[in-house]
Amino acid sequence: MSNTIIEVKNLYKKYGDFEAVKHISFEVMEGEIFGLLGPNGAGKSTTLEIIETLREKTSGEVFVNGMNLDKEPNHIKRIIGVQLQTSGYYPNLNLVELINLFAGLYNEPTDPLILLDKVNLRDKAKAKYKELSGGQKQRFSIATTLINKPKIIFLDEPTTGLDPQARRNLWDLILDIRKSGTTVIITTHYMDEAEVLCDRVAIIDSGKIIAIASPDKLIDDLVATGFERPKEVKKASLEDVFIHYTGRSLRDE
Ligand code: ADP
Ligand code: MG
Repeated sequence: MSNTIIEVKNLYKKYGDFEAVKHISFEVMEGEIFGLLGPNGAGKSTTLEIIETLREKTSGEVFVNGMNLDKEPNHIKRIIGVQLQTSGYYPNLNLVELINLFAGLYNEPTDPLILLDKVNLRDKAKAKYKELSGGQKQRFSIATTLINKPKIIFLDEPTTGLDPQARRNLWDLILDIRKSGTTVIITTHYMDEAEVLCDRVAIIDSGKIIAIASPDKLIDDLVATGFERPKEVKKASLEDVFIHYTGRSLRDE
């Protein structure tokens, strides 16, 4: 059995009078890819940002790698990797300069080219952040989460707005990161993505967790209730057709 690396107990968050997160509890296991799924406004980002120490909770308890969020936020910061909002990058620095800047902030010796290799951006080493395509920007921002060699990385909708090739490329990268032993928490509203990537998912709606299990178990449970899709499902989807004709390789580099 694997160990619990994140424990969230009875987490509650109010913005003024508005209850964004309503007493949710869940655990994330070491080494898994855990998905928080939910429509816009469900409370996914709020939950992540509280665990990341970037946002205050109203009440509840959070433990990360055994450390209490209220008591040791700085220790927690050291073992997690957080994706910055894209606006957080200096647009006129190139990728090597940006990595060196972050490495300096973390006080973590880093070889920028090795890191860029990991996310398939070595040939963009001298490019400025603003010159990257959407998929490249996402890969770069994932690279920056890895600088401090974190035990856990947090990815908030990393594939929103990407084309199918860039999305698959990012899935491979996320699976690689997990293979190296890093725990991944990801939010998405693409269910195909959650099915491919996540060991377990929590479905969150209006600030409450409605279901939590592996994608397989959730699907089997629904089928067991007698649920059937309204019409015969074809063996391929339009996305399969698109990938069949256009291939998996990236076009934006
Ligand atoms: P999600 O990431 O699932 O889309 P969020 O956690 O961003 O959801 O937001 C949950 C709810 O809280 C939304 O209704 C949002 O409008 C509200 N909210 C988020 N941030 C703030 C804030 N700083 N002040 C007030 N309301 C907020
Ligand atoms: Mg969000």
